[in-house]
Amino acid sequence: MELNIHSISGGVHIDKNRINPRRPFSVTADGIKRFVLGETAIGEASEVHAQVAGHNHQQAKPLRTIQATVKSVLAVAHTDRGTLDEHSRQVIAAAVLLADAVTEVVLLVFGELSDDSAALGADRVVVLPQYGSHAFAPEQELAALRNLIEALQPEHIYIPDCAIAGGDLGRRLGASMADVSIATHVVEINAAGLATYRQQRAVMARRSLSRIILLAADVVDTRLPFLGRGEIDEKLVATVSAAAEVGAVHKVLYRDLGISVLAASQMALDEADFIVSAGNGVDNVSTFNALANALEAAVGASRVAVDDGKFSRDQQIGATGKTVSASTYLAFGISGAVQHLQGIKDCRHVITVNLDASAPMIKRADLSIIDDAHAVMEALLVQVKQARNENGTDDVATVGSAA
Ligand SMILES: Cc1cc2nc3c(=O)[nH]c(=O)nc-3n(C[C@H](O)[C@H](O)[C@H](O)COP(=O)(O)OP(=O)(O)OC[C@H]3O[C@@H](n4cnc5c(N)ncnc54)[C@H](O)[C@@H]3O)c2cc1C
Repeated sequence: MELNIHSISGGVHIDKNRINPRRPFSVTADGIKRFVLGETAIGEASEVHAQVAGHNHQQAKPLRTIQATVKSVLAVAHTDRGTLDEHSRQVIAAAVLLADAVTEVVLLVFGELSDDSAALGADRVVVLPQYGSHAFAPEQELAALRNLIEALQPEHIYIPDCAIAGGDLGRRLGASMADVSIATHVVEINAAGLATYRQQRAVMARRSLSRIILLAADVVDTRLPFLGRGEIDEKLVATVSAAAEVGAVHKVLYRDLGISVLAASQMALDEADFIVSAGNGVDNVSTFNALANALEAAVGASRVAVDDGKFSRDQQIGATGKTVSASTYLAFGISGAVQHLQGIKDCRHVITVNLDASAPMIKRADLSIIDDAHAVMEALLVQVKQARNENGTDDVATVGSAA
Protein backbone atom coordinates (compact mmCIF):
# COMPACT_ATOMS: atom_id res chain seq x y z
CA MET A 1 0.00 0.00 0.00
CA GLU A 2 1.01 3.59 -0.44
CA LEU A 3 1.24 5.64 2.75
CA ASN A 4 -0.20 9.12 2.55
CA ILE A 5 2.17 11.26 4.57
CA HIS A 6 0.35 14.44 5.42
CA SER A 7 2.83 16.63 7.19
CA ILE A 8 6.32 16.53 8.55
CA SER A 9 6.23 19.29 11.03
CA GLY A 10 9.18 18.89 13.40
CA GLY A 11 10.41 22.46 13.57
CA VAL A 12 8.74 23.42 10.29
CA HIS A 13 5.05 23.63 11.03
CA ILE A 14 4.23 26.64 13.17
CA ASP A 15 0.85 26.95 14.80
CA LYS A 16 0.59 30.19 16.70
CA ASN A 17 -2.66 29.17 18.36
CA ARG A 18 -1.06 26.31 20.23
CA ILE A 19 1.41 26.32 23.10
CA ASN A 20 4.09 23.89 22.11
CA PRO A 21 4.05 21.44 25.02
CA ARG A 22 7.77 20.76 24.69
CA ARG A 23 8.80 24.42 24.79
CA PRO A 24 7.57 25.81 28.06
CA PHE A 25 10.26 28.50 28.45
CA SER A 26 11.26 31.68 26.67
CA VAL A 27 14.49 33.59 26.37
CA THR A 28 14.95 37.26 27.11
CA ALA A 29 17.56 39.49 25.53
CA ASP A 30 19.60 39.68 28.70
CA GLY A 31 19.76 36.02 29.54
CA ILE A 32 17.50 33.14 30.34
CA LYS A 33 14.21 33.31 32.09
CA ARG A 34 11.55 30.86 33.14
CA PHE A 35 8.57 30.77 30.85
CA VAL A 36 5.58 32.79 31.98
CA LEU A 37 2.26 31.66 30.58
CA GLY A 38 0.36 34.41 28.85
CA GLU A 39 -0.36 35.99 25.51
CA THR A 40 2.91 37.93 25.25
CA ALA A 41 5.14 35.06 26.16
CA ILE A 42 3.38 32.73 23.73
CA GLY A 43 3.62 35.36 21.02
CA GLU A 44 7.33 35.82 21.67
CA ALA A 45 7.89 32.11 21.67
CA SER A 46 6.14 31.77 18.34
CA GLU A 47 8.23 34.60 16.91
CA VAL A 48 11.45 32.93 17.94
CA HIS A 49 10.16 29.62 16.63
CA ALA A 50 9.37 31.26 13.33
CA GLN A 51 12.91 32.58 13.11
CA VAL A 52 14.61 29.33 13.85
CA ALA A 53 12.26 26.78 12.30
CA GLY A 54 13.38 24.85 9.27
CA HIS A 55 16.73 24.02 7.78
CA ASN A 56 16.81 26.93 5.36
CA HIS A 57 16.05 29.38 8.12
CA GLN A 58 18.78 27.82 10.24
CA GLN A 59 21.25 28.38 7.44
CA ALA A 60 20.20 32.02 7.36
CA LYS A 61 20.92 32.50 11.06
CA PRO A 62 23.95 34.61 11.87
CA LEU A 63 26.98 33.43 13.80
CA ARG A 64 26.70 34.17 17.50
CA THR A 65 29.99 36.04 17.45
CA ILE A 66 32.40 37.14 14.78
CA GLN A 67 34.86 38.71 17.21
CA ALA A 68 38.13 37.11 18.22
CA THR A 69 37.45 35.11 21.37
CA VAL A 70 39.72 35.54 24.36
CA LYS A 71 38.08 33.23 26.88
CA SER A 72 35.88 30.16 26.89
CA VAL A 73 33.09 28.29 28.60
CA LEU A 74 32.72 24.54 28.44
CA ALA A 75 29.55 22.48 28.00
CA VAL A 76 29.78 18.75 28.65
CA ALA A 77 27.34 16.16 27.32
CA HIS A 78 26.90 12.43 26.76
CA THR A 79 25.23 11.06 23.65
CA ASP A 80 23.17 7.95 23.10
CA ARG A 81 23.61 6.44 19.62
CA GLY A 82 24.97 9.74 18.36
CA THR A 83 22.14 11.89 19.69
CA LEU A 84 22.01 14.39 22.51
CA ASP A 85 18.93 14.30 24.70
CA GLU A 86 16.85 17.38 25.41
CA HIS A 87 18.49 18.00 28.78
CA SER A 88 21.97 18.09 27.20
CA ARG A 89 20.75 20.46 24.50
CA GLN A 90 19.37 22.76 27.17
CA VAL A 91 22.70 22.78 28.97
CA ILE A 92 24.56 23.65 25.78
CA ALA A 93 21.99 26.38 25.08
CA ALA A 94 22.60 27.81 28.55
CA ALA A 95 26.34 28.03 27.88
CA VAL A 96 25.72 29.62 24.49
CA LEU A 97 23.13 32.16 25.66
CA LEU A 98 25.27 33.31 28.57
CA ALA A 99 28.49 33.63 26.56
CA ASP A 100 29.44 37.15 25.51
CA ALA A 101 30.95 38.13 22.17
CA VAL A 102 34.53 37.42 23.24
CA THR A 103 33.75 34.04 24.81
CA GLU A 104 34.07 30.83 22.87
CA VAL A 105 31.68 27.95 23.65
CA VAL A 106 33.49 24.63 23.64
CA LEU A 107 31.47 21.43 23.67
CA LEU A 108 32.93 18.20 25.04
CA VAL A 109 30.94 15.18 23.91
CA PHE A 110 31.30 11.71 25.36
CA GLY A 111 30.06 9.34 22.65
CA GLU A 112 29.54 9.70 18.93
CA LEU A 113 27.93 12.90 17.74
CA SER A 114 25.66 13.04 14.72
CA ASP A 115 23.79 16.20 15.76
CA ASP A 116 24.66 19.53 14.12
CA SER A 117 26.98 21.19 16.63
CA ALA A 118 26.81 24.58 14.89
CA ALA A 119 23.02 24.61 15.26
CA LEU A 120 23.51 23.76 18.93
CA GLY A 121 25.56 26.95 19.20
CA ALA A 122 28.93 25.32 19.92
CA ASP A 123 32.00 27.02 18.47
CA ARG A 124 34.54 24.28 19.02
CA VAL A 125 33.75 20.62 19.58
CA VAL A 126 35.76 17.84 21.16
CA VAL A 127 34.15 14.46 20.47
CA LEU A 128 35.29 11.31 22.27
CA PRO A 129 33.32 8.51 20.56
CA GLN A 130 34.96 5.77 22.64
CA TYR A 131 32.97 6.89 25.73
CA GLY A 132 29.30 7.85 26.05
CA SER A 133 26.20 6.18 27.45
CA HIS A 134 27.27 2.69 26.32
CA ALA A 135 30.55 2.71 28.25
CA PHE A 136 31.24 2.86 31.97
CA ALA A 137 34.49 4.77 32.22
CA PRO A 138 34.22 7.34 35.02
CA GLU A 139 37.96 7.76 35.59
CA GLN A 140 38.72 8.17 31.90
CA GLU A 141 35.93 10.68 31.44
CA LEU A 142 37.05 12.65 34.48
CA ALA A 143 40.65 12.63 33.26
CA ALA A 144 39.57 13.80 29.82
CA LEU A 145 37.48 16.58 31.31
CA ARG A 146 40.22 17.67 33.71
CA ASN A 147 42.69 17.74 30.83
CA LEU A 148 40.41 19.90 28.72
CA ILE A 149 39.83 22.27 31.64
CA GLU A 150 43.61 22.56 32.09
CA ALA A 151 44.01 23.37 28.41
CA LEU A 152 41.17 25.88 28.08
CA GLN A 153 40.76 27.31 31.57
CA PRO A 154 37.04 27.85 30.91
CA GLU A 155 35.23 30.40 33.06
CA HIS A 156 32.28 28.08 33.61
CA ILE A 157 31.63 24.40 33.03
CA TYR A 158 28.02 23.48 32.30
CA ILE A 159 26.90 19.87 32.83
CA PRO A 160 23.42 18.30 32.87
CA ASP A 161 22.42 17.35 36.41
CA CYS A 162 20.96 14.00 35.44
CA ALA A 163 20.83 10.79 37.47
CA ILE A 164 23.73 9.15 35.68
CA ALA A 165 26.44 10.33 33.26
CA GLY A 166 26.56 14.13 33.69
CA GLY A 167 25.34 14.27 37.28
CA ASP A 168 27.95 11.75 38.40
CA LEU A 169 30.74 13.24 36.30
CA GLY A 170 30.00 16.77 37.52
CA ARG A 171 30.19 15.76 41.16
CA ARG A 172 33.37 13.80 40.57
CA LEU A 173 34.81 16.87 38.90
CA GLY A 174 33.85 19.09 41.82
CA ALA A 175 35.38 16.66 44.31
CA SER A 176 38.60 16.37 42.31
CA MET A 177 39.31 20.11 41.98
CA ALA A 178 40.48 22.21 44.89
CA ASP A 179 38.95 25.63 45.49
CA VAL A 180 36.33 25.34 42.85
CA SER A 181 32.76 26.52 43.29
CA ILE A 182 30.03 24.13 42.24
CA ALA A 183 26.25 24.49 42.13
CA THR A 184 24.01 21.46 41.68
CA HIS A 185 20.29 21.17 40.83
CA VAL A 186 20.33 24.65 39.30
CA VAL A 187 16.76 25.59 38.39
CA GLU A 188 17.22 29.21 37.31
CA ILE A 189 20.13 30.88 35.62
CA ASN A 190 21.02 34.15 33.92
CA ALA A 191 24.13 36.28 33.53
CA ALA A 192 23.68 37.71 37.05
CA GLY A 193 23.53 34.39 38.88
CA LEU A 194 21.77 31.13 39.49
CA ALA A 195 19.26 29.63 41.89
CA THR A 196 18.63 26.26 43.47
CA TYR A 197 15.89 24.98 45.74
CA ARG A 198 16.53 24.31 49.43
CA GLN A 199 14.48 22.81 52.26
CA GLN A 200 12.26 20.55 50.16
CA ARG A 201 11.71 23.30 47.59
CA ALA A 202 10.38 25.70 50.27
CA VAL A 203 13.26 28.16 49.81
CA MET A 204 15.09 29.29 46.72
CA ALA A 205 18.77 30.06 47.26
CA ARG A 206 20.46 32.51 44.86
CA ARG A 207 24.14 33.12 44.23
CA SER A 208 26.50 34.36 41.54
CA LEU A 209 27.48 31.95 38.78
CA SER A 210 29.71 29.18 40.11
CA ARG A 211 32.50 27.66 38.07
CA ILE A 212 30.86 24.24 37.77
CA ILE A 213 27.15 24.45 37.04
CA LEU A 214 25.01 21.31 37.13
CA LEU A 215 21.80 22.37 35.46
CA ALA A 216 18.42 20.72 36.12
CA ALA A 217 16.21 19.83 33.16
CA ASP A 218 13.78 22.32 31.57
CA VAL A 219 15.50 25.47 32.77
CA VAL A 220 16.50 26.79 29.37
CA ASP A 221 14.87 27.10 25.98
CA THR A 222 16.97 25.43 23.28
CA ARG A 223 15.85 27.69 20.42
CA LEU A 224 18.76 29.88 19.48
CA PRO A 225 18.61 32.87 17.15
CA PHE A 226 22.20 32.27 16.00
CA LEU A 227 24.72 29.57 15.13
CA GLY A 228 28.06 28.54 16.57
CA ARG A 229 31.11 27.81 14.42
CA GLY A 230 30.75 24.08 15.03
CA GLU A 231 34.41 23.23 14.38
CA ILE A 232 35.71 19.83 15.47
CA ASP A 233 39.10 20.32 17.11
CA GLU A 234 40.97 17.12 16.17
CA LYS A 235 44.12 18.23 17.93
CA LEU A 236 42.32 18.65 21.22
CA VAL A 237 40.51 15.35 20.64
CA ALA A 238 43.85 13.53 20.39
CA THR A 239 45.32 15.25 23.45
CA VAL A 240 42.24 14.72 25.59
CA SER A 241 41.87 11.07 24.47
CA ALA A 242 45.45 10.35 25.46
CA ALA A 243 44.88 11.98 28.86
CA ALA A 244 41.77 9.86 29.34
CA GLU A 245 43.72 6.65 28.85
CA VAL A 246 46.37 7.77 31.32
CA GLY A 247 43.53 8.60 33.70
CA ALA A 248 42.38 4.98 33.74
CA VAL A 249 44.66 4.11 36.66
CA HIS A 250 41.80 2.74 38.77
CA LYS A 251 40.47 0.61 35.97
CA VAL A 252 41.48 -2.63 37.67
CA LEU A 253 39.22 -1.97 40.66
CA TYR A 254 36.10 -2.93 38.76
CA ARG A 255 35.02 -4.73 35.64
CA ASP A 256 32.63 -3.16 33.17
CA LEU A 257 30.12 -5.86 32.20
CA GLY A 258 28.59 -3.60 29.58
CA ILE A 259 25.01 -2.62 29.07
CA SER A 260 22.23 -5.17 28.60
CA VAL A 261 19.76 -3.79 26.13
CA LEU A 262 16.18 -4.60 27.11
CA ALA A 263 13.45 -4.59 24.50
CA ALA A 264 11.10 -1.69 25.15
CA SER A 265 8.28 -4.24 25.47
CA GLN A 266 9.91 -5.55 28.65
CA MET A 267 10.22 -2.12 30.24
CA ALA A 268 7.83 -0.09 32.33
CA LEU A 269 5.91 2.33 30.12
CA ASP A 270 7.33 5.41 31.83
CA GLU A 271 10.88 4.18 31.13
CA ALA A 272 10.35 2.91 27.59
CA ASP A 273 12.16 4.63 24.76
CA PHE A 274 9.80 3.41 22.07
CA ILE A 275 6.04 3.18 22.59
CA VAL A 276 3.34 2.06 20.20
CA SER A 277 -0.05 3.27 21.37
CA ALA A 278 -3.62 2.43 20.38
CA GLY A 279 -6.77 4.49 20.53
CA ASN A 280 -10.42 4.10 19.64
CA GLY A 281 -9.46 3.93 15.95
CA VAL A 282 -7.76 0.55 16.45
CA ASP A 283 -10.23 -2.30 15.96
CA ASN A 284 -7.79 -5.09 15.40
CA VAL A 285 -5.90 -5.47 18.66
CA SER A 286 -4.10 -8.65 17.59
CA THR A 287 -2.54 -6.92 14.59
CA PHE A 288 -1.61 -4.01 16.84
CA ASN A 289 0.04 -6.35 19.38
CA ALA A 290 1.85 -8.21 16.61
CA LEU A 291 3.28 -4.92 15.36
CA ALA A 292 4.34 -3.86 18.87
CA ASN A 293 6.08 -7.24 19.25
CA ALA A 294 7.76 -6.93 15.88
CA LEU A 295 9.02 -3.45 16.70
CA GLU A 296 9.93 -4.54 20.25
CA ALA A 297 8.03 -1.52 21.50
CA ALA A 298 6.15 -0.98 24.76
CA VAL A 299 2.36 -0.86 24.43
CA GLY A 300 0.29 2.12 25.51
CA ALA A 301 -3.34 3.09 24.97
CA SER A 302 -5.81 5.94 25.21
CA ARG A 303 -8.41 5.97 27.94
CA VAL A 304 -11.21 5.05 25.52
CA ALA A 305 -9.27 1.98 24.38
CA VAL A 306 -8.68 1.03 28.01
CA ASP A 307 -12.32 1.65 28.98
CA ASP A 308 -13.32 -0.64 26.09
CA GLY A 309 -11.38 -3.44 27.78
CA LYS A 310 -8.87 -3.76 24.93
CA PHE A 311 -5.94 -2.83 27.17
CA SER A 312 -5.25 -2.89 30.89
CA ARG A 313 -5.54 0.23 33.06
CA ASP A 314 -1.77 0.39 33.66
CA GLN A 315 -1.30 0.87 29.91
CA GLN A 316 -3.33 4.07 29.84
CA ILE A 317 -1.35 7.15 28.89
CA GLY A 318 -2.51 10.62 29.80
CA ALA A 319 -3.61 12.89 32.61
CA THR A 320 -5.23 10.05 34.55
CA GLY A 321 -2.76 7.44 33.30
CA LYS A 322 0.99 7.39 32.81
CA THR A 323 3.21 10.23 31.70
CA VAL A 324 5.78 8.89 29.27
CA SER A 325 8.98 10.31 27.81
CA ALA A 326 9.79 7.97 24.93
CA SER A 327 12.10 9.04 22.11
CA THR A 328 9.48 7.73 19.70
CA TYR A 329 5.74 7.59 20.32
CA LEU A 330 3.79 5.92 17.52
CA ALA A 331 0.04 6.49 17.93
CA PHE A 332 -2.66 4.63 15.98
CA GLY A 333 -6.21 5.97 15.92
CA ILE A 334 -5.80 8.40 18.82
CA SER A 335 -7.54 11.77 18.43
CA GLY A 336 -5.16 13.62 20.74
CA ALA A 337 -7.50 14.90 23.43
CA VAL A 338 -5.82 17.32 25.80
CA GLN A 339 -5.81 14.70 28.58
CA HIS A 340 -3.92 12.29 26.33
CA LEU A 341 -1.47 14.94 25.14
CA GLN A 342 -0.56 15.71 28.75
CA GLY A 343 0.81 12.20 29.06
CA ILE A 344 3.08 12.51 26.01
CA LYS A 345 4.34 16.07 26.50
CA ASP A 346 7.90 14.81 27.09
CA CYS A 347 8.04 12.49 24.08
CA ARG A 348 10.60 13.54 21.53
CA HIS A 349 9.27 12.24 18.21
CA VAL A 350 5.54 11.70 17.85
CA ILE A 351 4.20 9.81 14.83
CA THR A 352 0.47 9.48 14.34
CA VAL A 353 -1.79 7.45 12.07
CA ASN A 354 -5.30 8.84 11.80
CA LEU A 355 -8.06 9.05 9.21
CA ASP A 356 -8.88 12.60 10.29
CA ALA A 357 -6.34 15.20 9.17
CA SER A 358 -7.83 17.74 11.56
CA ALA A 359 -7.36 15.66 14.72
CA PRO A 360 -5.41 17.50 17.45
CA MET A 361 -2.86 14.68 17.45
CA ILE A 362 -1.78 15.78 13.96
CA LYS A 363 -0.74 19.18 15.34
CA ARG A 364 1.31 17.56 18.09
CA ALA A 365 2.94 15.02 15.76
CA ASP A 366 6.23 15.39 13.94
CA LEU A 367 5.04 12.96 11.27
CA SER A 368 1.42 12.23 10.40
CA ILE A 369 0.08 9.45 8.21
CA ILE A 370 -3.50 10.09 7.11
CA ASP A 371 -4.73 6.59 6.52
CA ASP A 372 -6.50 3.63 8.02
CA ALA A 373 -4.73 2.35 11.14
CA HIS A 374 -5.18 -1.31 10.27
CA ALA A 375 -3.84 -0.90 6.73
CA VAL A 376 -0.76 0.99 8.01
CA MET A 377 -0.11 -1.61 10.71
CA GLU A 378 -0.29 -4.42 8.13
CA ALA A 379 2.04 -2.52 5.80
CA LEU A 380 4.51 -1.86 8.61
CA LEU A 381 4.48 -5.52 9.63
CA VAL A 382 5.41 -6.51 6.08
CA GLN A 383 8.20 -3.92 6.04
CA VAL A 384 9.61 -5.05 9.38
CA LYS A 385 9.46 -8.69 8.29
CA GLN A 386 11.32 -7.86 5.09
CA ALA A 387 13.94 -5.84 6.95
CA ARG A 388 14.47 -8.66 9.45
CA ASN A 389 14.82 -11.23 6.67
CA GLU A 390 17.31 -9.06 4.82
CA ASN A 391 19.36 -8.61 7.98
CA GLY A 392 19.11 -12.33 8.80
CA THR A 393 17.47 -11.59 12.16
CA ASP A 394 14.47 -13.37 13.68
CA ASP A 395 11.16 -13.41 11.94
CA VAL A 396 8.45 -11.17 13.34
CA ALA A 397 5.45 -12.44 15.25
CA THR A 398 2.69 -13.90 13.13
CA VAL A 399 -0.16 -11.52 12.53
CA GLY A 400 -3.24 -12.79 14.33
CA SER A 401 -6.73 -12.78 13.01
CA ALA A 402 -9.15 -9.97 13.66
CA ALA A 403 -9.76 -9.28 17.33
C1 LIG B 1 -11.03 13.90 33.67
C2 LIG B 1 -10.64 13.19 32.40
C3 LIG B 1 -9.43 12.51 32.38
C4 LIG B 1 -9.04 11.85 31.22
N1 LIG B 1 -7.82 11.20 31.19
C5 LIG B 1 -7.42 10.62 30.05
C6 LIG B 1 -6.17 9.98 29.98
O1 LIG B 1 -5.42 9.87 30.94
N2 LIG B 1 -5.80 9.44 28.79
C7 LIG B 1 -6.58 9.49 27.66
O2 LIG B 1 -6.16 8.99 26.62
N3 LIG B 1 -7.78 10.09 27.72
C8 LIG B 1 -8.24 10.63 28.87
N4 LIG B 1 -9.45 11.21 28.91
C9 LIG B 1 -10.34 11.02 27.78
C10 LIG B 1 -10.09 11.99 26.64
O3 LIG B 1 -10.79 13.17 26.85
C11 LIG B 1 -10.51 11.37 25.29
O4 LIG B 1 -11.87 11.02 25.38
C12 LIG B 1 -9.75 10.15 24.89
O5 LIG B 1 -8.37 10.39 24.97
C13 LIG B 1 -10.08 9.78 23.46
O6 LIG B 1 -9.48 8.58 23.13
P1 LIG B 1 -9.21 8.22 21.61
O7 LIG B 1 -8.47 9.32 20.95
O8 LIG B 1 -8.64 6.86 21.56
O9 LIG B 1 -10.69 8.10 21.02
P2 LIG B 1 -11.53 9.05 20.08
O10 LIG B 1 -11.69 10.39 20.64
O11 LIG B 1 -12.78 8.30 19.75
O12 LIG B 1 -10.64 9.19 18.77
C14 LIG B 1 -10.37 8.15 17.88
C15 LIG B 1 -9.51 8.67 16.78
O13 LIG B 1 -9.19 7.61 15.90
C16 LIG B 1 -9.40 8.03 14.57
N5 LIG B 1 -9.79 6.85 13.80
C17 LIG B 1 -10.99 6.22 13.79
N6 LIG B 1 -10.93 5.13 13.00
C18 LIG B 1 -9.67 5.09 12.51
C19 LIG B 1 -9.01 4.21 11.62
N7 LIG B 1 -9.60 3.13 11.11
N8 LIG B 1 -7.72 4.48 11.31
C20 LIG B 1 -7.08 5.55 11.81
N9 LIG B 1 -7.68 6.42 12.65
C21 LIG B 1 -8.95 6.19 13.00
C22 LIG B 1 -10.46 9.09 14.61
O14 LIG B 1 -10.33 9.98 13.51
C23 LIG B 1 -10.15 9.77 15.95
O15 LIG B 1 -9.26 10.83 15.78
C24 LIG B 1 -9.87 11.87 30.07
C25 LIG B 1 -11.06 12.58 30.11
C26 LIG B 1 -11.45 13.22 31.26
C27 LIG B 1 -12.74 13.99 31.26
